Amino acid sequence: MDASASALSVRDVTKTFHTPEGGLVHALDSVSLDIAEGSFMVLLGPSGCGKTTLLRCIAGLESPDSGQIALRGQRIDDMPVWRRRVNTVFQSYALFPHMTVAQNIAFGLQMDKVPGDIIKVKVEESLDMVHLSGLGSRKPSQLSGGQQQRVALARALAKEPEVLLLDEPLSALDLKLRRGMQSELKRLQRETSITFVLVTHDQDEAMAMGDQVAVFNAGRIVQVGEPREVYLRPRSRFVADFIGEANVLTGVLDTFGLVVESLGLVPRDRLIADTDAASGRVHVAVRPENVSLQIDPVGTAKVTDVSYVGGDMRVEALASAVSIVSRVPSQGVQPPRIGDRVSISFAEGSLTVVAD
Ligand code: ADP
Ligand code: MG
Repeated sequence: MDASASALSVRDVTKTFHTPEGGLVHALDSVSLDIAEGSFMVLLGPSGCGKTTLLRCIAGLESPDSGQIALRGQRIDDMPVWRRRVNTVFQSYALFPHMTVAQNIAFGLQMDKVPGDIIKVKVEESLDMVHLSGLGSRKPSQLSGGQQQRVALARALAKEPEVLLLDEPLSALDLKLRRGMQSELKRLQRETSITFVLVTHDQDEAMAMGDQVAVFNAGRIVQVGEPREVYLRPRSRFVADFIGEANVLTGVLDTFGLVVESLGLVPRDRLIADTDAASGRVHVAVRPENVSLQIDPVGTAKVTDVSYVGGDMRVEALASAVSIVSRVPSQGVQPPRIGDRVSISFAEGSLTVVAD
């Protein structure tokens, strides 16, 4: 991406911590990322992979050992926190308990010496934006968890940052509230056109929210792309396994196709076209919804498990040592039974070569 088109550009940022036990943790290992102006970026990865550390480096709460961070082309990694036009919403909300909702929102604006009458308008506007109009005189303790989260959001948005950082902002909410807040956050991002960078370890949340998803593993970004692309074309076994469910098969690839042990020849057109360059022994990933199992008395595999997951039928089959999972909508399908023999086929263009 052209650096001028990115709101935020992170270049080769490295951060190592010394642990109290005398060890070293490479929290960020040469991380580079470009985030487009006005987009919704999600940083996804398992716990401890460095997501919070990257947000803290962007916000200025932590300083990188090396590398650069620029906001609209201007370096910010050596700027004090208060000068960066970046705001953070923390998982813990971090509201001031002794202040009212309105005072919480006004506080940062007062620090910036914004005139009182403008502060009043901005407080009202931001409360309205998060659907909390009329609750300005409450204390945080008089609000539900979800409402407190909205106050934290309103407070961050009132300052009109160029970039809003959100560190697992929904993880304390129950599932139903969380779904509601996910679409709410998407709406706020669209309406304000502020660049949002949201951290989560929840792959469903990342897929639902991000324009782009950056997948982290052990201090590195291993893949960046649109949710659909990352889901359908994982570049590594890690991404394939971390996002959704994946079948990872090993085989030998030549011009005719992929020969998988115990499954036989998978024709070339079952593979995604741009895997043309690969040959020899490879790993491929295929999503369960692209695998179909037909009941077949001379089939190579045997059904080992049938279950219903979210309206789908999920079937596991075993062909000698290779286990494979298929998932199809359960409506109108005659379900196979455990022990049935099945033959396995794959949807066209559905297998993608992954690094080990
Ligand atoms: P995430 O947010 O992805 O769960 P973090 O960025 O919080 O991960 O942490 C990345 C790694 O750095 C973890 O192993 C964590 O224990 C370590 N770490 C984070 N902050 C510190 C610190 N201040 N001192 C020592 N280790 C830290
Ligand atoms: Mg974290």
